[in-house]
Amino acid sequence: MKNRLFVISGPAGVGKGTLVKLLLQEDPALTLSVSCTTRAPRKGEVQGREYFFLTKEGFQDRIDSGDFLEWDEHFGNFYGTPKSFVLEQLEEKSIILEIDVAGARQVKQHEADFGRIVLIMIVPPDMETLKSRLVGRGSETEETLKNRLARVEYEYAQKDKYDYVVVNDNLEEAKRTLQNIILQETNRGDKHD
Ligand code: 5GP
Repeated sequence: MKNRLFVISGPAGVGKGTLVKLLLQEDPALTLSVSCTTRAPRKGEVQGREYFFLTKEGFQDRIDSGDFLEWDEHFGNFYGTPKSFVLEQLEEKSIILEIDVAGARQVKQHEADFGRIVLIMIVPPDMETLKSRLVGRGSETEETLKNRLARVEYEYAQKDKYDYVVVNDNLEEAKRTLQNIILQETNRGDKHD
């Protein structure tokens, strides 16, 4: 068995958070990566559990020393996946990164250091249902809703760049498919990539 890095992406509202939670609950050999951020901790968040909370300078130092597998800016704050932390964790367990399409593309470029990195996208059975669900939430302005829908379309259109595309039609089935992928990939060598 080889511990592997699994990147799980998917459009908003597709249920990937729920699936990841189930995978972690049922497999003690899996863990979730902890990201770094420059945003302030919210109530109840613990340093090193939800995030590693860093100053802007601390974050910049890590960028400069090449210690991010990927990083991005959201809402004026920086977020990134720390390479040294992931490498350390990987000695013990396989790791899941729940990350968007842009982040996944950056992470995939680190296979020289990590061996095979497995990209998995969760997709809805049909896009129209997902979109109407997002519209139905009704909690957003026209503009943010438009942005969200465009983003969902964009993420979905990137699915061919992924190693696996898993349809979340039935939660239990999608979970089992993911568990099979994880089993298969941790038993697979790095040759013939
Ligand atoms: P929040 O501040 O609500 O915890 O997260 C804000 C946004 O940052 C979310 O869209 C989340 O997916 C994204 N995010 C969290 N961690 C990372 C990371 O390590 N890398 C990237 N690129 N985005 C992240």
